[in-house]
Amino acid sequence: MLGIAQDGGLPQLGCNAPCCTSARRSGRRETPACLALHNPHAAKVALIEATWAVPDQIDHLLRLIPPRPQSAPPVDAIVLTHLHMGHCAGLLHFGCEALASDKLPIHLSQRSITALTSHMPWQQLFTAGHLDARPFEAETQLTPSPPFEPVPGIQVQAVPVPHRDEWSDTVALRITGPNRTALFCPDIDAWGDALPALLDGIDIAYLDGTFLDPAEFAPRDPATIPHPLMNETMDRLDALGQSRPDQVFFIHLNHTNAALHNSDIAATFKQRGFNLAQTGDRAAL
Ligand SMILES: [Zn+2]
Ligand SMILES: [Zn+2]
Repeated sequence: MLGIAQDGGLPQLGCNAPCCTSARRSGRRETPACLALHNPHAAKVALIEATWAVPDQIDHLLRLIPPRPQSAPPVDAIVLTHLHMGHCAGLLHFGCEALASDKLPIHLSQRSITALTSHMPWQQLFTAGHLDARPFEAETQLTPSPPFEPVPGIQVQAVPVPHRDEWSDTVALRITGPNRTALFCPDIDAWGDALPALLDGIDIAYLDGTFLDPAEFAPRDPATIPHPLMNETMDRLDALGQSRPDQVFFIHLNHTNAALHNSDIAATFKQRGFNLAQTGDRAAL
């Protein structure tokens, strides 16, 4: 786990509330939700999401895995869930101004490819050969795509989920290793009746924990940035009984989310069998 915050991170630009003034004072930094997939036997690694903090996140990753050959790129592939800025702005680090990667495979939906390749400056990442688009076929809500392997031996399926889809669609990712399957779902408008399908066969779930309390949306209108509230998510998961995943971690927390700032809240979650993800968390698949 290389980042656990909502797109804006912590502290967030322009926030002068205690959530961010205290973080500025203490030097605490939380970067947007980002997961790495590592197969130590193949010595390959993929990045899920390209956040604006990708240089720091990859530095963190490279401290966690065995040294890579000097000639190898920092990661072997990228997977994107959607094109909101916290999830894709870091692609700019792969362009000619920075890494200038050579045909780095990037797995994303066809709609995302069309959006990126139709607009500068993203377009030149593809036309100049820095990124090599690999579309996954995920058209029907909650229906997993055929599996693809951004890292050999780790199968990923994209599952379309409802989210503000202004210029791309949005997917959750099912990630399957030899023994266990994880779900990465940083952004969803509402669970509706999606949870049983999304969590079918899932051992470890990383779920949208953007907001705990409706007051945290202020001054924005919740209708413009819908997300399920954490307590509702926990109640729905409890109601699943036996089919609840063994481990559930909340990710994508907004800077205002009290669970980021009050350890008593995290302890209450823990008592119910839920966890706040932490940067540096690792799970074996
Ligand atoms: Zn987001
Ligand atoms: Zn704040």
